[in-house]
Amino acid sequence: MDEEARRDLERCNLTRVERRAVEAYWKRRASAPERIDNSALPAGSPMIYFCHHCGIHTETLPETHLERPKTCCDGCRYLVNHMLMPPPKLE
Ligand SMILES: [Zn+2]
Repeated sequence: MDEEARRDLERCNLTRVERRAVEAYWKRRASAPERIDNSALPAGSPMIYFCHHCGIHTETLPETHLERPKTCCDGCRYLVNHMLMPPPKLE
């Protein structure tokens, strides 16, 4: 989290838990792995999904999966549920 983001966060009227959730988001985002382009993987490869917001790995599913992939991690889900972040695009 850079200084400007930290100053903005200080100005927000957040609970201590919400503030920690936002700080955790910035940490996740800073350490997120490089996203894998599933379409570039060989046929039959499992599909690898990442959080739409922070970019951490959320789940790996078989190529033929039918269920909707998890595109929002639990930490970001908390922020979405507290209206501190928009829902991911697929919802
Ligand atoms: Zn996330």
